[in-house]
Amino acid sequence: METVLLAGGAGYIGSHTAVELLNSGYEVVVVDNYYNSCPESIKRVEQITGKTVKLYEGDVKDHSIIRTIFKENKIDCVIHFAGLKAVGESVAKPILYYRNNIDTTLTLLECMEEAGVENIIFSSSATVYGEENPVPYNEDMKKGSCTNPYGWTKSMMEQILTDATVANKNLSLVLLRYFNPIGAHESGMIGEDPQGIPNNLMPYVAQVAVGRREQLTIFGNDYPTPDGTCRRDYIHVVDLAKGHVKAVEYALAHKGVEIINLGTGTPYSVTEIVESFEKSTGVEIKHVYGDRRPGDLPESYADADKAWKLLGWKAEKSLEDMCRDTWNWQSKNPNGYEK
Ligand code: NAD
Ligand code: UDP
Repeated sequence: METVLLAGGAGYIGSHTAVELLNSGYEVVVVDNYYNSCPESIKRVEQITGKTVKLYEGDVKDHSIIRTIFKENKIDCVIHFAGLKAVGESVAKPILYYRNNIDTTLTLLECMEEAGVENIIFSSSATVYGEENPVPYNEDMKKGSCTNPYGWTKSMMEQILTDATVANKNLSLVLLRYFNPIGAHESGMIGEDPQGIPNNLMPYVAQVAVGRREQLTIFGNDYPTPDGTCRRDYIHVVDLAKGHVKAVEYALAHKGVEIINLGTGTPYSVTEIVESFEKSTGVEIKHVYGDRRPGDLPESYADADKAWKLLGWKAEKSLEDMCRDTWNWQSKNPNGYEK
């Protein structure tokens, strides 16, 4: 069976993808520097699946570790998750973000070329649609202007990877544009474990539920949306992970570049998320309304047709599943992996 290298595979989406790849019969190799994760997530992946993962600790910017991995393993496909992703931090530390996100990508491409590895899947984001495009976003739209350096790194990395694929006809590239991944594996053994105060909505809600934060602030209720709060396309991380398995199959069988949205196509407002979490778990989420957060768009959701047509993939889990599984993970692991 084919072997897939997960760069940044110990993180939230990588660990869930590792489970789905192993369950589909792939061999999995992970490289991570644990900047935003810990090896415990991969131990748990092994417990869930009963299979082993070959784990390398190292920086994906570093050619020597990637060369070693390509020498010691026959890698058929790379999935590039290794990036910094905190929007606010990227505004404060743009150089750190450009250095880490762009350099990891360049190192992977250079080492892939040396080793003759021809398939790569990239973790991109709906943020590249920018401010100009109307919802729902589809893959034929021109990319827009990003509101922060994190978004620009994604937009630039898409360009770099595309240029490399145009120049090398042997390459196969799938740019996966994620919408808002939330939830956790149904076992409650792996999940999202943000460091410090969570930036994203669902981890914040989960920490209020478990008593680590006093209350949620809803950022703005005067948007031009049905209830005045922003609407997003929340997708269960296990559905997202399954989309990666389909993308690997696709990349192995084709050449060239494909851009694919991974979303559900259905938006929910912040208020609907809070209500759904309370209903699915029976836990009250204390919340107040505050100012808008700079850079937030009123709405972001996918046209999810291309993923269905090209990959035969669509999201299957409900918002209730997302809330229940988030709570299952958070209540079983109130302090995350406790690294
Ligand atoms: P995460 O932080 O949990 O995972 C990223 C992993 O990459 C971490 O384990 C981190 O330690 C590792 N990493 C970062 N820089 C590295 C480096 N130089 N060398 C080795 N390892 C490195 O984040 P995630 O939510 O799993 O996201 C995975 C990818 O998906 C990221 O590229 C992110 O930007 C992208 N993405 C995430 C979301 C989201 O909402 N979670 C949305 C769109 C896109
Ligand atoms: N949000 C909020 N309070 C928080 C965190 C987020 O009201 O503490 C809102 C945010 O304004 C946005 C939505 O929740 O409308 C999703 O935010 P998140 O950061 O999770 O995702 P993104 O902004 O990347 O879509």
